[in-house]
Amino acid sequence: MTLPNELVRALQQSRSVVVLTGAGISAESGVPTFRDAQTGLWAQFKPEDLATPEAFRRNPKVVWEWYAWRRQLVAQVEPNAGHRALVELERRVPQFTLITQNVDGLHQRAGSRSVIELHGNLTRTKCFEEGAAVDHWEETGEVPPRCPRCGGRLRPDVVWFNEMLPPGVFECALAASRSCDVFLSIGTSALVHPAASLPLDALKRGATLVEINPDDTPLTAHVHFRLRGPAGVILPALLRALGPASG
Ligand code: NAD
Repeated sequence: MTLPNELVRALQQSRSVVVLTGAGISAESGVPTFRDAQTGLWAQFKPEDLATPEAFRRNPKVVWEWYAWRRQLVAQVEPNAGHRALVELERRVPQFTLITQNVDGLHQRAGSRSVIELHGNLTRTKCFEEGAAVDHWEETGEVPPRCPRCGGRLRPDVVWFNEMLPPGVFECALAASRSCDVFLSIGTSALVHPAASLPLDALKRGATLVEINPDDTPLTAHVHFRLRGPAGVILPALLRALGPASG
């Protein structure tokens, strides 16, 4: 595939790159995006019925089981060529920050180091009442299991709709976005706030804005370069276009 020369040059000369990823980058690993995840057993539920504190209060068993299903699915898949290309990009850019909305941990499994997880990670568990991280608990058959400290229900350590992001996390993402010279938005529908504002903040500060997605999003109209297609194809091509790593 042919990539715009100006984009390749901007990346080669860049001192600081920020990447924002969404569910689309994991699609080629076999992790469904939110829209695709509503299949089979779970087709009857909307994300708002499964990923909100209200949903958990109403039906904690259903929510726990949905995340248990996703946790099991993620454990069975592997990072793909898109995740791996971002590991390589991190090695080649002086300053690199990967901001992800994904909760699947695939970037870290691929080898990315500097990862800001905006929405938590579904492999971790915390107490619904106190919010404290919980690593071990007794399996009594009750679903969800209980917090060994306070007896509250356990929940996945992810950020649900209508919840605040973990303290400090968005501030770090915003600071990186405001100081980068190239910003890549990859595999995100650019609809979930506050993550969706980050590319526009980067743009306001003069960054070159790039989108990699097979479909248009609300961000598309604002970007300098729109690379239409799957991340697992476009990112390796972009890395090849950068040429051999120096040093
Ligand atoms: P989204 O499901 O709203 O959008 C996915 C985007 O990826 C779409 O724009 C789609 O066109 C694009 N896409 C699909 N296949 C692609 C590919 N091969 N390469 C590049 N792009 C591709 O996802 P979102 O924007 O991340 O927002 C939804 C929320 O759902 C997030 O908060 C996230 O935490 C959560 N979520 C996470 C996972 C995960 O961890 N893997 C999966 C589903 C949902």
